[in-house]
Amino acid sequence: MAGVVLKDVMKSYGAVHAVQDVSFRVEDGEFVALVGPSGCGKTTTLNLIAGLIPLSSGEIVIGERVVTDLDPKDRDIAMVFQNYALYPNKTVFNNLAFPLQMRRQSKDAIEKKVREAAAVLDITHLLERRPRELSGGQQQRVALGRALVRDPAVFLMDEPLSNLDAKLRVQMRSEIKRFHHNLNATIVYVTHDQLEAVTMADKMAVMHGGFLQQYDSPANVFANPVNTFVASFVGSPAMSLIPVDVASEGGTMALRGAGGWTLPLSPLNARKAQGSSTGKAVLGARHSTLKLHRQAAPGRVPGKIYSVEPTGDVTFVQVVVDAEVINISLDPSVAVEPDEAVWIAFDQDRLHLFDGRTTMALK
Ligand code: ATP
Repeated sequence: MAGVVLKDVMKSYGAVHAVQDVSFRVEDGEFVALVGPSGCGKTTTLNLIAGLIPLSSGEIVIGERVVTDLDPKDRDIAMVFQNYALYPNKTVFNNLAFPLQMRRQSKDAIEKKVREAAAVLDITHLLERRPRELSGGQQQRVALGRALVRDPAVFLMDEPLSNLDAKLRVQMRSEIKRFHHNLNATIVYVTHDQLEAVTMADKMAVMHGGFLQQYDSPANVFANPVNTFVASFVGSPAMSLIPVDVASEGGTMALRGAGGWTLPLSPLNARKAQGSSTGKAVLGARHSTLKLHRQAAPGRVPGKIYSVEPTGDVTFVQVVVDAEVINISLDPSVAVEPDEAVWIAFDQDRLHLFDGRTTMALK
């Protein structure tokens, strides 16, 4: 296997800047997810690594080699696509064998590699079938197998699970994780689904508008999002964000909401809030860090219940504060009703503050 390095990679289509100045390093054996909303540039980034489209500028290194100007076939990569791209008239065996036959490998070598890959992916019993005789999950495994037999330096995967139903997607998620673990494979994996990225990857590259926003482990991205985009993109339900003013209340730093409420800040948060460039900030909090009360008290923020969604083991409640919707998770034993007046308590150790103008995290 090999690592992958992107240096100042740019791709423009006329006035459309699909990928802007993206740099990151995938270590040998690492699983990296490129994640972001539709149009953020993740597929373009993967296709640039694959060599399917030329760069506008920048450099791509795979292993020890600069591959920027090499054809896809010379980059030692294997791709797995969303639509599997299996040959419908070939058996599973021949689908797996085909890339090796193209490389003119011996019959014995092909037989050995196909059987090894089939064993890894548990599809040996399917080798004589054709793709139409397979379930979606089995077809996905064959597509992985076809990449695997080529023994590439890097696997590139573009939304490989998006054609599967929700249950199978969860199952294949852990299978691809096992695949990565067993082979110690280097994988670059595109998904729009932040949960897939968080659950599968060693590192996630969060993209937005062609720019790389944050490149770190899922745990660090979740705990320390660099800006409000990443904060609201990663985590489900999303982190709640409330625009506020930074104010001094009787000598104590506080946040003041549009509705006139104030939230006094701990010394650490007060220091962070002072870093705001314009006196405007955005208060962020994850659903599990908020507490709901039925009485007003200093430091509690008033709101009104908007909706209540029981899921069985946890109830998600949406509360409207000023004009914002705040997500809170509650124990299912707590009964709340839409339109009820409530007060929210913030955990000072786990709230997030962002600059109101730049949207960057205040540190
Ligand atoms: P999705 O999840 O919808 O596939 P994505 O994050 O993979 O989105 P890209 O396909 O990389 O996004 O596209 C990034 C931007 O570049 C988009 O604005 C897209 O319209 C534009 N784009 C991509 N390919 C081309 C092309 N061949 N010509 C012109 N614009 C393109």
